[in-house]
Amino acid sequence: MTFDLTGEQDQLRDAVRALGRRYGHGYFVEKAKAGEHTTELWTEAGRLGYLGVNIPTEYGGGGGGITELAIVCEELAAAGCPLLLLVVSPAIAATVITRHGTEEQRKRHLPGLADGSAKIVFAITEPEAGSNFHRLGTVARRDGDDWVLNGRKCYISGVDEAGHVLVVARTEDSSTGKLKPALFLVPTDAAGLTRSKLDMEIVSPENQFLLYLDDVRVPADALLGESLDAGLPALFAGLNPERITVAAMGAGTGRYAIERASEYTATRKVWGGRSIGSHQGVSHPLAHAAVQVELARLMIQKAATLYDAGRDLEAGVAGNMAKYAAGEAAALAVDTAVQALGGTGMTTEYGVATLLGAVRAGRIAPVSREMILNFVAQHVLGQEKSY
Ligand SMILES: Cc1cc2nc3c(=O)[nH]c(=O)nc-3n(C[C@H](O)[C@H](O)[C@H](O)COP(=O)(O)OP(=O)(O)OC[C@H]3O[C@@H](n4cnc5c(N)ncnc54)[C@H](O)[C@@H]3O)c2cc1C
Repeated sequence: MTFDLTGEQDQLRDAVRALGRRYGHGYFVEKAKAGEHTTELWTEAGRLGYLGVNIPTEYGGGGGGITELAIVCEELAAAGCPLLLLVVSPAIAATVITRHGTEEQRKRHLPGLADGSAKIVFAITEPEAGSNFHRLGTVARRDGDDWVLNGRKCYISGVDEAGHVLVVARTEDSSTGKLKPALFLVPTDAAGLTRSKLDMEIVSPENQFLLYLDDVRVPADALLGESLDAGLPALFAGLNPERITVAAMGAGTGRYAIERASEYTATRKVWGGRSIGSHQGVSHPLAHAAVQVELARLMIQKAATLYDAGRDLEAGVAGNMAKYAAGEAAALAVDTAVQALGGTGMTTEYGVATLLGAVRAGRIAPVSREMILNFVAQHVLGQEKSY
């Protein structure tokens, strides 16, 4: 067992950290408040190869794994730039296409995802289904060689920045007549696909949308994979990378908040000569949050290592636990940092309260803490399913 990164991973960490710090949280907030995207940072990260670290080299990527992508997510977040679309485009879409797409789909989509010139977002959540994906109501009907999609999706991140959206729909299984999942690569400018932006209380340059699919017609090769049988495994293929990278973003955000608060409390003096950090009522909560973040990081490392070793089932348990731990730790760290900073903590300029909405959302999305607890209760503790 080793807790050390390889030399290359270390270099990647240092380089991404330097890039993130060059932009910083001020840049992230400025873009968010102006209703703009972090295009400069995304483009530069793509050019330097950081967005494609997990994509195979034959498609223009770095040939690494989710361990490397988690490093990118964590270090950008630790620099105050938690980019949610890293979770959607390189983690979910690139993994699903690499593992279950056709060769033609890999050649068409992966190079753009690798260099950051293209983004593919992911649409599974529906208003009526919520956490219960068995209730998905978006249906794909065959019409000649084409597919025609109808349904509604909600909270879909980054549709305004993406060329395609990977839509999870259902088709009728010709042998059983039952509906089964199928994924479609739908151009965001397809006729019949419309969107409306949701107003969210999150300071983020990335937006969430309601998506309406009204008779969206796509050609046969928009279906992900060689046949309808690819749907279910493709859907599952995206889950572990999603959980591990979103956990890494949470851990990075937690580190950022604790660092900002610790710098401040070590030097701020309001009771004579001693810093406020010398009071344990201030330092212990920060130390406690730091322990929680570090524990989450360990679990992320374990989950990513298992995933990259091809041990998907074990990675599923570890990835869910990592996501849970990091979601809780990030929310605790940001809240604790705000408290330790006092009034300063609530200023936009100091850049900690600006993360409250994002870390709160991290306990709900992409999978809620309750659904992870359900998973652990059922699959680790052997409890009966309650729903
Ligand atoms: C910022 C943000 C970005 C998002 N981006 C995307 C995206 O890009 N693509 C996408 O497809 N989706 C996205 N989502 C949606 C997200 O995945 C869902 O919000 C999440 O899965 C929860 O679904 P829901 O909101 O419908 O909650 P519901 O399912 O309505 O649940 C509401 C509450 O009840 C709890 N609950 C539900 N069922 C149970 C149960 N059986 N046991 C215990 N508790 C339960 C939940 O944990 C939650 O706390 C995003 C959401 C947010 C907030």
